[in-house]
Amino acid sequence: MAIFDLKGKVAFITGGNGGIGLGMAKGLAAAGATVVIAGRSKTKAEAALAQLKALGGTAEFVELDVVKESSCKQVVASTAKKFGRLDILVNNAGTSVRKQPQDLTAEDWHLVMDTNLSSAFFCSQAAYPHMLRAGGGKIINIGSMMSIFASSYATPYASSKGGIVQMARSMAVAWAKDNIQVNTILPGWIDTDLTRKAREQVQGLNERVMARTPAARWGSPDDFAGIAVFLASAASDFVTGAAIPVDGGYSVLA
Ligand code: NDP
Repeated sequence: MAIFDLKGKVAFITGGNGGIGLGMAKGLAAAGATVVIAGRSKTKAEAALAQLKALGGTAEFVELDVVKESSCKQVVASTAKKFGRLDILVNNAGTSVRKQPQDLTAEDWHLVMDTNLSSAFFCSQAAYPHMLRAGGGKIINIGSMMSIFASSYATPYASSKGGIVQMARSMAVAWAKDNIQVNTILPGWIDTDLTRKAREQVQGLNERVMARTPAARWGSPDDFAGIAVFLASAASDFVTGAAIPVDGGYSVLA
């Protein structure tokens, strides 16, 4: 369908070398976009690129540590320069430090906030002039169930994920006049490296997720291909500032 067609578009995805980011990258590549995945691990990127290229599109990896503000700006700018445009930005890179609030160090706090929230701000700011020049663009942020709910072991994580929703809404309002839509996806519990670690660290997590998720399963990164294409394409041109759960019903169960 033409409204979902991403041929000729260039997408930049932080953390696109694995997990949910790769699931979204695969959706965008299958819809025809040129996909640039950014992250730290080259090993993960090689495996990711093989999957993306198998879908027939152009895919590249750029090394980026998103906690470095100047690197975010530099890498977004060099991607736009190399491909002549930047249409889609996915702010997906994320991490967590699981401790009770009283045990968190300043370093823990800054690591999570810088990775999950500040990087999304600086990458969006860097993408803006290129989207403006192209006559529009799509920014997709990744929130969490912790954008809505809370947990004793997730103070910085929940703060960053609540913050990213409000950041997206503010940018949505500011940039609607420029035809740039800014939305946030709120994943439920998805089986990735991040949650494999959480399952080891948080006792009873698997049982709680299974009991609370009406779909009665963990999500998979591939569950994010469709929503990524929707939010990156003309199909969502009148959708902005939204926070959309992709959670198997987790957030609506009373
Ligand atoms: P993964 O750990 O599989 O992926 C996280 C990605 O972020 C990795 O590809 C990693 O790349 C990248 N990343 C982390 N830190 C940095 C950094 N400093 N610089 C560059 N890249 C970085 O986890 P998920 O796929 O689960 O997480 C993706 C997003 O989804 C995150 O924002 C997470 O908070 C969110 N989320 C996940 C949920 C889940 O249940 N899995 C639920 C709700 C939200 P590299 O290894 O190369 O650094």
